[in-house]
Amino acid sequence: MFESYKFELKRTLSNIEIKSFSYLLMQQTSVHKVYVDEVNSKNVTVYYLQNKDIDEIKKEIDDFLEQYFISNKEVAIALEGNIITNDYLDYCSTCKPKNNTNISIELLKRGWIKLLRGHDMQFSGELIRLLEYFDRSYVKYMMKHYDNVKEVKYSTLIPKYYMEKLNYFQSAPKHLFYPMTLNNDTTKDFANSIQKNKGKLPNEFNNYLGTPKYVLQSAPCFKIYFSLQDQEIEDNLIYTVKGECYRNEGKKTYLLERLLNFSMREFVFLGEPNFVVENRENILKWTFEWMQELGIKGNCALANDPFFICDDARKNFEIPKNVKYEVKADIPYKNDSLSIASFDTHGNYFSKTFNFNINKSNKTWSGCMGLGIERCTWSFLQQYGLDNKQWPEIIRRELNEGY
Ligand SMILES: [Zn+2]
Repeated sequence: MFESYKFELKRTLSNIEIKSFSYLLMQQTSVHKVYVDEVNSKNVTVYYLQNKDIDEIKKEIDDFLEQYFISNKEVAIALEGNIITNDYLDYCSTCKPKNNTNISIELLKRGWIKLLRGHDMQFSGELIRLLEYFDRSYVKYMMKHYDNVKEVKYSTLIPKYYMEKLNYFQSAPKHLFYPMTLNNDTTKDFANSIQKNKGKLPNEFNNYLGTPKYVLQSAPCFKIYFSLQDQEIEDNLIYTVKGECYRNEGKKTYLLERLLNFSMREFVFLGEPNFVVENRENILKWTFEWMQELGIKGNCALANDPFFICDDARKNFEIPKNVKYEVKADIPYKNDSLSIASFDTHGNYFSKTFNFNINKSNKTWSGCMGLGIERCTWSFLQQYGLDNKQWPEIIRRELNEGY
């Protein structure tokens, strides 16, 4: 039921690159299996379903290869660095979680989480301390490695101008939250209709609304790129920012695992491609070290939801292939894992869109990593339970010291 098709690449693939190349080829085309010749890695054989049109498959492969091998030398060097990250794909920490049961009921029983109406929640007790602890501990660990990080803080509102420039309303509209305001000249009618409706919002609510001027941010790093619009940067930059994120997950929320509103700690790297790629590699490595130190068990995976840029727009930018990696933490009771951090390289997507550059170079890249604070706390509690006597010594000690 499978047919095969052979083709030759324009350069050989390194051993660690073969895995990501095959993975991406299967993801982005209709082929089912990829075989890269071990002796000459330029030779590739793919297998596809018999009922597929070979010409279509060929076209998909050609498009894929065109994107994969970006001819620019500088980008190619940075990409090589990027590929080193594949060493981490098999990473799995040696930590030994002590809890095997779902903590959800206990969490509610103890009142650390109280469910409120409309998928909302109240956090209290030890949970608040843990949420603060994981953020501070992470920042402290990373800061050991840097001496030039700029810390910034923003509101959660993004003026629509920026999202229009990013074409975000077309590429990823459904996860956005839009804070609405009334049209000024409808305020009186609106109040009247509310009165008639006994305090409830009227069904024809839309009639009173203006076009939103803002959206709620889906990641805190955006504003760093906005803040650099039309500027020249003298040196490579590292930022850190913590912020609230809003994602419309519909009804798919589940305690700390999936929230409409959560907090994220980010580190952002801007400048020469190699600087961005290298730092993304390093912080991924240090994140594992940090997890190991705290006892959180996890692994690394290549993510399949890279970036919100649509395929049409992609060709206008230099965007490296392995855009996104995720660090996942084990959720022992269901023998599964949950993404707690992601590591992205955006190429020149933000610098070109917002016209900033390092020393007038059009090779100005950006990359960021984000740690989901609630998910990190959630997976820790799933791995060790709610009884703090069972928690790793380092966490008990640092919490006691009022970390
Ligand atoms: Zn980010």
